[in-house]
Amino acid sequence: MNSEKIDSIIQYAYDHVPYYRNMFKEKGINYNELKDYFYKIPILNKDIVMNNTDGFISDEFAKEKLEVDRTSGSTGKILNIYWNNHDRIRSLMSLWSARKILHNILPTSKCCYFHSIAYRTTSDLSEKEVFSPRMMVRDNGLVLSLSKLSFDEKTLDIYYRKIFEFDPEWIMCHPSTIYLFADFMEKTNKKRFNKLKFIELTGEYLIESHRKKIVDVFEAETANHYGAKEVNGIAYECQNGHLHCLDNNVYVEIINGNENIGYDKVGQICITGLNNRSMPFIRYNLEDTGILRKGCTCGCGNNTPYLEICAGRGNDVIELNNGKRVECVVFFYVIEWINTNFNNIILQFQIIRTMQYRFEVKLVLFENSNDMFIKIKSAFVEKISEYGFKDYEWVFFSVDIIPPQQDTQKLNFYYDKRAKLSM
Ligand SMILES: [Zn+2]
Repeated sequence: MNSEKIDSIIQYAYDHVPYYRNMFKEKGINYNELKDYFYKIPILNKDIVMNNTDGFISDEFAKEKLEVDRTSGSTGKILNIYWNNHDRIRSLMSLWSARKILHNILPTSKCCYFHSIAYRTTSDLSEKEVFSPRMMVRDNGLVLSLSKLSFDEKTLDIYYRKIFEFDPEWIMCHPSTIYLFADFMEKTNKKRFNKLKFIELTGEYLIESHRKKIVDVFEAETANHYGAKEVNGIAYECQNGHLHCLDNNVYVEIINGNENIGYDKVGQICITGLNNRSMPFIRYNLEDTGILRKGCTCGCGNNTPYLEICAGRGNDVIELNNGKRVECVVFFYVIEWINTNFNNIILQFQIIRTMQYRFEVKLVLFENSNDMFIKIKSAFVEKISEYGFKDYEWVFFSVDIIPPQQDTQKLNFYYDKRAKLSM
């Protein structure tokens, strides 16, 4: 824990950020009491910031001169995040240091990136350009950015040729995106990219069977990066597969309500950004579920604590007919259980609640025989009933591929269609 940096950001927020200034004044907290007050600061969430975005911007900066990032969260809530260039660079330093140490990737290494909207909205891009599908080379020729808006075979073919010509050393993207790309390359017998040595996976829960296919097709190393546009990098995967917190950039807590619950217990992941002064996030609940472990238990030599993320993005809760509430992560447990027992048969899955008593399950299977499909269906129904799902109708579909959602460009492994319709 980087106490000096934590003290510095709360003192800064007290001096310059209206939301915090008002909150500390209302609670009667003086400047010199701030250090002891940290764990009592009320937990922040996305709704609070969305309803009062200007209140989170430091009075030292003119909003219109700041750079804007947008969160694209699977919840469909879009939040503008304001950065000044100096802090953005500082906040990215721990990430670059991890990339260099673990994979020899430098800021000067050519990178291919997939965007849902253009990476950064600056005044030189019109609204149309930001959202329109396109390919662009930016950052002085170092980054090839490809839109995920359309991902049909024709586009994938164009993208393949463009990447081949660009010849990046590394790729940064969502696992579901690069998985679709790997699948396309495998089916069409495409050659691997010459210089590509590393793929950084981010933004979604990573399924190990997906990672295997990505590594096989691209013949590249992979690492999982857990981050959020609010603060940039949060945790980075070491060679032992553990997501160590980037403690020069962020302070990570696991909370239950307003309480920090420490190590080895499941709770919600809550962060304090240590570098963004233009828009500080202090004790901000990311609404992902996870566990924090002591760094020394990893053995890789990095002693900062590491995170185990229990669910994908979002905190979808399924209300069962008996009134019990279950986190949608149970579907992951069932799929991982089947994959452990059936030799990684499930390559992709998606579960949709269509009615009160009915779920649809789409599966992409490695071996697509009728016999196997029947076995997997019955294994699924048997295992899911252990989590309290009884008397439901499960309708299974064996499909070739599950593309990302049109609206969020992410692959939501679970959603409630009834909720979507009423939104
Ligand atoms: Zn480690």
